Amino acid sequence: MRCPHCGESDTRVIDTRATGNSVRRRRECQKCGQRFTTYENIAPTLNIIKRDGRRESWDRQKVLNGIRIACTKRPVAMADIEGLVDQVEEYVLSLGRAEIPSSVVGEKVLEGLKTLDPVAYIRFASVYLDLPDLYALRAEIDRLLEGEPEPVRPLERQAVGG
Ligand SMILES: [Zn+2]
Repeated sequence: MRCPHCGESDTRVIDTRATGNSVRRRRECQKCGQRFTTYENIAPTLNIIKRDGRRESWDRQKVLNGIRIACTKRPVAMADIEGLVDQVEEYVLSLGRAEIPSSVVGEKVLEGLKTLDPVAYIRFASVYLDLPDLYALRAEIDRLLEGEPEPVRPLERQAVGG
């Protein structure tokens, strides 16, 4: 979403409201600080197929709540959570399908949480991926840690710096 004032693509959602079949968003440009409003149409018939086969209609608020719970007491800004929900929503709507499995939504949320906050990621994964036991949870944490660079140990840094 580009800023209509300066063309910058880095804009932040500051308020989101559903109005009938469209979503109204207030955005703030991260470059020039101007605010503007966008309207996006929601596919009126997007259904989410749950694991047990039941269908429910796409509910942005529900996804938002799930992410918020995972981020409880973590240093994640509400604007970043909103931004992630935006990404997920834009993605699922861009698929242009009437129905998608809930796993598509879950994977997309996990992908975003991975970069936002590792603890929130693990919390969400343990619920969403329905990890059956501590071994499965540990495997998921190992998978996450493998992609992480080694943390710099303060003692070593001190020795190098003199
Ligand atoms: Zn701008």
